[in-house]
Amino acid sequence: MANLDPKIKAQMINSATEARRHSHSPYSGFKVGASVLMDNGKVYGGCNVENASYGGTVCAERVAIWKAVSEGAKKIAALVVVTDSDQPWPPCGMCRQVVSEFAEPAVPVILANLKGKEIAQTVGELCPHFFGPLNLK
Ligand SMILES: [Zn+2]
Repeated sequence: MANLDPKIKAQMINSATEARRHSHSPYSGFKVGASVLMDNGKVYGGCNVENASYGGTVCAERVAIWKAVSEGAKKIAALVVVTDSDQPWPPCGMCRQVVSEFAEPAVPVILANLKGKEIAQTVGELCPHFFGPLNLK
């Protein structure tokens, strides 16, 4: 079970929920918001951005991470994903890989829906055997 300060968690859920409102998802109709707390103390939000050329689509989690990294923050302290589904929605495999590039296994991950349901996990639980140079040795 991941530990995350309740005030920070609320701030991150608000950030992800706000970002979700900007989702560009005319093809799937599935709006996703995400936020990352970085070790600089800042929270970066992101939404899924779809494209008519489906391969150009980017998930909310990666948008949030790329916003943070592009501003010089490279260490994730917590991740939140917000969807409007009955069950909170986990990151896809590609996003799990990207998360594991910038987060230690103990980093908390909160999956939440708009009805207030939450599932708390860690990066290590979400992505126990991620691909990386160290895994090739
Ligand atoms: Zn994804």
